Amino acid sequence: IKVQDYRPQPFTDFTQPENVQAYQAALKKVRAELVGKHYPLIIDGERVDTAEKITSLNPCDTSEVVGTTAKATVEDAERALQGAWAAFETWKKWDMDARARILLKAAAILKRRRLEACALMSIEVGKNYAEADVEVAEAIDFLEYYARSAMKYAGFGAAETTWFEGEENGLMYLPLGVGVSISPWNFPCAIFIGMAAAPIVAGNCVIAKPAEDSGLIAGFMVDIMLEAGLPAGVLQFLPGVGKEVGEYLTTHARTRFITFTGSRAVGLHINEVAARTMPGQKWIKKVILELGGKDALIVDETADLEVAVTAATQGAFGFNGQKCSAMSRLIVVDEVYDAVVGQFVERARALKVGTGEENANVTAVVNGMSFDKIKGYLDLAPQEGQVLLGGEAPGEHGGKKGYYIQPTIVGDVARDARLAQEEIFGPVVSVLRARDWQDALEIANSTEYGLTGGVISSSRERLEQARAEFEAGNLYFNRKITGAIVGVQPFGGYYMSGTDSKAGGPDYLANFLQLKTVTERW
Ligand code: NAD
Repeated sequence: IKVQDYRPQPFTDFTQPENVQAYQAALKKVRAELVGKHYPLIIDGERVDTAEKITSLNPCDTSEVVGTTAKATVEDAERALQGAWAAFETWKKWDMDARARILLKAAAILKRRRLEACALMSIEVGKNYAEADVEVAEAIDFLEYYARSAMKYAGFGAAETTWFEGEENGLMYLPLGVGVSISPWNFPCAIFIGMAAAPIVAGNCVIAKPAEDSGLIAGFMVDIMLEAGLPAGVLQFLPGVGKEVGEYLTTHARTRFITFTGSRAVGLHINEVAARTMPGQKWIKKVILELGGKDALIVDETADLEVAVTAATQGAFGFNGQKCSAMSRLIVVDEVYDAVVGQFVERARALKVGTGEENANVTAVVNGMSFDKIKGYLDLAPQEGQVLLGGEAPGEHGGKKGYYIQPTIVGDVARDARLAQEEIFGPVVSVLRARDWQDALEIANSTEYGLTGGVISSSRERLEQARAEFEAGNLYFNRKITGAIVGVQPFGGYYMSGTDSKAGGPDYLANFLQLKTVTERW
């Protein structure tokens, strides 16, 4: 297959009025064509409806139903699993480049429908224009990147072996079989499709279970994969409740692998149940987990203040802090604490709260459960630190009810406080005061997570120390700690943040392949 070298998609510049106008036109189109739509299950290429439905609400205006999906039962899950195994018998025999071609075609379709996908996410999960735009760019990148990386696993001899006289030896990569891909709502386009497309291009069949809050954008993406020519049964679309169909499939004897991105609690639960061998099970399930974070940015006394404040504001409040990579701890060396925190609070105070559709900086959080959880941390904040900004959860904006939380900064939080240790997943930042650089690094490493982190410093020696000692899967110097680009910054965390599978990295597809060595003597 002939392709040009992989290049990440450029982002859209929304300081240009024509780009804003195009986005607003897409919002209109999506309101006319997609809002109110119902997405059934897709099993073996057939659209299947269910008696019960899952309703997707606009978090910025909860009186609005964005649309519905079917709600799979365990019987549906069973059929999807058996059907996927049947499809696997032929899909595994497709040439790698023929499989890759489908991803490239899907990427081309998504490029044409980029603004629609963005607009749908503004309405369904409250992303503002830039946040939605970088996410759809990432979805295109995943498809383009995994299509190309598939080539390196094709054929006998794809991996290096040593020559041995009198024999032909070689390694071949084989797909695993049928797996379940369970994804979160916070990157409902990019993570959803990346976690399905990677195993699929490697020759596996996938049952994709989207998050309950973002079924529409998932359905939109599945339609694109089918339009690109994916055969029936290779990608089974199974919107449903995690505790019901998710649990059924992760514990099932015929599930070969599970790829999960979501919370630490659910991830650890899946790890446990998937480890139990069920009657008739003939393999050890492969489990790939990408979980939460409590990501820290260190600012030392040699830092450029402007760089520090910009990095902190973008990292903390982009998509309302609802990113696994979000800066939820700002660790500042005592000498510059007042200056850095003072400016950070002023910058955050200027952020506009509103809807995704009106392109506000901070919008509503995704759902009632999230809202209540964050509110619990806001109640705790005055006991664990000084509330320097925000601290309220108004639950409405501009006369509309929605899950609105004020951008909140809590100063002088102790390193072992709950606000400094637990993932909040909202626009709430804990600021910690460090005695000096060494102390700051120790604070950064004092949680059980290890996802992203960053340092703002002009000391070469300290940056080199952080390169070696800062415990994070993705570490950034002198910039924000969010916004990993496919192929450029392979993404994934260690410790309780996950199995460090490095999505968008050169070896990601190996997670979904097994190796076979074949020797022939002559
Ligand atoms: P979640 O764990 O609540 O849900 C994730 C998915 O798991 C959903 O599809 C849900 O339906 C399903 N699920 C729930 N219970 C299940 C069960 N018992 N068995 C099987 N599936 C089940 O997470 P969320 O709220 O959707 O997402 C936010 C979390 O995801 C945050 O913790 C965030 O840090 C994390 N995240 C991590 C990464 C990463 O790359 N490390 C990326 C994005 C999000």
